[in-house]
Amino acid sequence: MNNKLAINGGPKTINKTFPWPIFDESDVQAVAEIAASGAWGNPDCDGLVLEVEQKFAKFCGSKYALSCVNGSVALRLALIACGVKPGDEVIVPPYTFIATASIVLEANCVPVFVDILPETYNMDPKELEKAITPKTKAIIPVHFAGQACNMDALMEIAKKHDLRIIEDTAHAHGGEYKGKKLGSIGDAGCFSFQSSKNLTSGEGGMIVTDDEALYDMMNSLRNVGRVKGGQWYEHHNLGCNYRITQLQAALLATQLDRLEEQTQRRNENGLYLNSLLEKIHGIQPLSRGLGETLHTYHIYIFKYDKAEFNNLSKREFAEMLAAEGVPSFMGYPEPLYKQPLFQEKNFLCYAIPEEVDYTNVHCPETEKACYEDAVWIMQNTMLGTKEDMDLIAAAILKIQDAVSK
Ligand SMILES: *Cc1c(COP(=O)(O)O)cnc(C)c1O
Repeated sequence: MNNKLAINGGPKTINKTFPWPIFDESDVQAVAEIAASGAWGNPDCDGLVLEVEQKFAKFCGSKYALSCVNGSVALRLALIACGVKPGDEVIVPPYTFIATASIVLEANCVPVFVDILPETYNMDPKELEKAITPKTKAIIPVHFAGQACNMDALMEIAKKHDLRIIEDTAHAHGGEYKGKKLGSIGDAGCFSFQSSKNLTSGEGGMIVTDDEALYDMMNSLRNVGRVKGGQWYEHHNLGCNYRITQLQAALLATQLDRLEEQTQRRNENGLYLNSLLEKIHGIQPLSRGLGETLHTYHIYIFKYDKAEFNNLSKREFAEMLAAEGVPSFMGYPEPLYKQPLFQEKNFLCYAIPEEVDYTNVHCPETEKACYEDAVWIMQNTMLGTKEDMDLIAAAILKIQDAVSK
């Protein structure tokens, strides 16, 4: 066997690609039918858009679902509809996509960063409780990588301090916590259908909620401030046009039919890959969280310890692994609060108090995850075969063997 690393011109461990999105003639046909009908738009928030919203609400076990242009706007609509005021504080994790925090600024509110747990990379309830002030109005926990947050703990804290919980479910379509669908537990759950996500229509977003008043307000905000029963040119709230097209709804409907089976497959492969990687010195899969029953593995994450790899940096390791044919990389290079947006407070006209300062924020677990530990494998890989999982473990062992010589 040729053990030369692929990055040095040796044979790749995995010689296939992992396609995404997955579709067939039925998806193409569904879009073609809408295209042929000429009814592409969604001026009245009805048709296939309304049908797929109702289907998604049912899937999540929520009363209402409201589609919109993307996951960022979904979060923003949910937060604004909660009635936040300028200068209110909203607690977010720093190990997430920028939108979780930037939409808080867009709502004229102050993002407050609370560190993650090293075992799961989800928000640490103990740190959360310490960060709450009289100005705190809402929490946006992220079910990071598709693993449920400790929702019992978060809900209890929210209840105690009268805070709203908006679940960022952009990684967690179809995931479950104690048998409940993620997104259906807090005041609202916000999904993204951007092209990399576990359920996609190219772009798109959805908010689920059981709260009728919240739903009505979000519906108005999505539809240029119109209200139920109002006239076309009658605008009550500061909204915008955030409606999706019927073409997106057609794709969402066919893709949603595949989600359950795909989620089960990713979860099974994730558990199997955990069992393989746990045996490798210097590799530690994230632990499966408390009470969580179904992990969507939008990202499969393991922790890397360079001491067991002859001090090879995480970046170099991730590059070697990618060269072996494993679709992997090092994830977020730094915590959100280190982004120039926060360090330089490039908030434009937004009403953020002068004294807010992100240069002294320090979340050690997030920094460790970014700089040293976390290696990511994306969700489409988790739709592979059991043999593919074996090959991922083999690729890691091949690198360990090569760099240790
Ligand atoms: C992708 C993502 C979003 C934003 O979704 P878009 O559809 O890209 O706007 C929000 N939060 C997290 C955690 C995400 O990964």
